[in-house]
Amino acid sequence: MIALTGFMTAPWLSSAQNFSIPHLRVTLLLTKEAQIMKIVPIGIWGGYPKANSATSSFLLEHEGFHCLIDCGSGVLSSLQNYLPLEKLDAVVISHYHADHIADIGSLQYSRLINYYLGKPLKPLPIYGHQEDPENFGKLSYKEQTIGIPISKEETIQIGPFDVSFCETKHPVYCLAMKFQTTDHSIVLTADTEWQEELVEFARDADILISEANLYEEHVGKAPGHMGGSEAGNLAHLANVKQLILTHLPLHGNIEEILQAAKVHYDGSAELAEVGKEYVL
Ligand SMILES: [Zn+2]
Repeated sequence: MIALTGFMTAPWLSSAQNFSIPHLRVTLLLTKEAQIMKIVPIGIWGGYPKANSATSSFLLEHEGFHCLIDCGSGVLSSLQNYLPLEKLDAVVISHYHADHIADIGSLQYSRLINYYLGKPLKPLPIYGHQEDPENFGKLSYKEQTIGIPISKEETIQIGPFDVSFCETKHPVYCLAMKFQTTDHSIVLTADTEWQEELVEFARDADILISEANLYEEHVGKAPGHMGGSEAGNLAHLANVKQLILTHLPLHGNIEEILQAAKVHYDGSAELAEVGKEYVL
């Protein structure tokens, strides 16, 4: 069903979707589906993926723009269940640990193969910080992908989103991120131990996607990660509307992590579920 909601242009759409003919105002009919903001978990694990799954990653979609957030092990395979790879418009990387970047190389090869097949794609922007110049340099590859710097100082526009960042507490430099439109905001903590600044950063978000990599007995003992109780506390203090837990451990019963979060947060809280569409 097509819904006519006004005259809009979106520079990230293909020419087939964005067009102009003489005497007729440029008209883009966005389906109702395209106007909603949607985020889909692609993987939920920290460290490495379980069989036939992927490490923590999310696909964010709004106004026909598709942004992948982190691209670790198994992500390229899982992503294809939800989006043809050539429809990806941008990738944002929180930090350069393997469980967040392992599939970048394969993503670059997928674009190169398209090029060899005579179906070249636009260079894909991959956003990452420059605190690790060697790894930042690897985001650019044979004009198939282009590394674009992000920093905690600057809000940038990525497709239809205003995106800002907050440094987390992790063994390597890592950025939490906030995607905002006029109506909504989604905050992802990326990897971090308890970090007070995240409370203001996540203030009143519609969705907080928080890492929760630790069982309670490990909270405060394993550097760089939070337990469910801390994720729940963050959601409570920041007054977010919904909490989704990710970067989960492969051992133990992860339901315990959700229960620990619910002790501190009485809003809607759940473990990220691969393929589920969280819609705003
Ligand atoms: Zn990490």
